[in-house]
Amino acid sequence: MRIEAKQLPDSSGYFEQFGGRFAPETLIPALDALNAAYEGAKHDPSFWAEFDSLSRDYSGRPTPLYFAERLTKHCGGTQIFLKREDLAHTGAHKINNALGQGLLAKRMGKRRIIAETGAGQHGVAAATVCAKLGLDCIVYMGEEDISRQPLNVFRMKLLGAEVRPVSSGSKTLKDAINEAIRDWVTNVRDTYYLLGSVVGPHPYPTMVRDFQSIIGKETKQQILEKCGRLPDYIIACVGGGSNAIGIFHPFVNDRDVKFIGVEAAGKGIKTLQHAASLVAGRVGVLHGAKSYVLQDDAGQIRETHSIAPGLDYPGVGPEHSYYKAVGRATYVAVDDNAALEAFHLLSQTEGIIPALEPAHAISYTVKMASSLPKKQIIVVNLSGRGDKDVDIVARALGVKL
Ligand SMILES: *Cc1c(COP(=O)(O)O)cnc(C)c1O
Repeated sequence: MRIEAKQLPDSSGYFEQFGGRFAPETLIPALDALNAAYEGAKHDPSFWAEFDSLSRDYSGRPTPLYFAERLTKHCGGTQIFLKREDLAHTGAHKINNALGQGLLAKRMGKRRIIAETGAGQHGVAAATVCAKLGLDCIVYMGEEDISRQPLNVFRMKLLGAEVRPVSSGSKTLKDAINEAIRDWVTNVRDTYYLLGSVVGPHPYPTMVRDFQSIIGKETKQQILEKCGRLPDYIIACVGGGSNAIGIFHPFVNDRDVKFIGVEAAGKGIKTLQHAASLVAGRVGVLHGAKSYVLQDDAGQIRETHSIAPGLDYPGVGPEHSYYKAVGRATYVAVDDNAALEAFHLLSQTEGIIPALEPAHAISYTVKMASSLPKKQIIVVNLSGRGDKDVDIVARALGVKL
């Protein structure tokens, strides 16, 4: 009999054939130590008491589950609820993971924190938590991303972090991760690597999932209070996959709740300028784990594109690959233009300017809702707010700010 997904990964970090630990020799003891520390924290009520207390008073949790009445009407009546991660401190779900790992680093006695960032959202969350906990923070960021996201670079500096430019490869997120791993190999004794999504070698995908599961746990309680039953669908955007796993995982054994993960189709799947690893990738190894990856015929990692900076990554968390393989979740892709349309729609029907990442999930929801019975319930994870994306949207509209 198949193991229930709840008991995965196995002790080596495998979700059946996905995940594992493809890491340099020098990191294996560090990963073992991290795993042991996390297992200890996981079973220590005082660790979770501090996580819960800071989640409440610092991050602003629980975030509301909001009935989007006008969007529901617009779509023909299927009830649409939004899980408001956009209202969490720093404007997205990323704070949940940064807080959990920051507390773990402190528990391990590590005061030097390194992190990678693409557009800067995880860098800002990591820098925020390090300021709050009094830890040193170094953020690796590709030079290309630094020039595209000057505001987030400045934010990280305001928060006291050092931003280290990465000039290798395509000078974007995957190169920043490579550089962070290199730093960790060199400084492993005093350094904690605060990884930003459910990717990387074991135990990161599991640990980050557990910290983000607070989203799904709250959602379950909130939808039962509001509707007296579980939703028919949960829909979330998938970059590395952490906001999606966070809202999906607490429902994994509720078989009537269908999961839909929405990836970035960028300029179209056929153009190869996209970031849809699950929809259009092949199984391979990237950043320490086996999962779906965007690679060419020679196995080289492809350049990706999405209008949403947080979705612009050529890999995906191994647990999503497992969900895809066993059919627990369905993965689809939405392109830049459709995401932009949904961005405007949500802004104007609900007065909520979404981040471009969850605008992908909103787009798919709108398309699907029109063909569903009115009684059905959809929960969309609104992973972040759109303030960070206003420049990108203005550019797309040809507006000069
Ligand atoms: C970073 C980010 C994402 C993508 O990351 P996941 O790990 O897939 O959740 C999605 N939404 C927002 C708002 C983000 O900042």
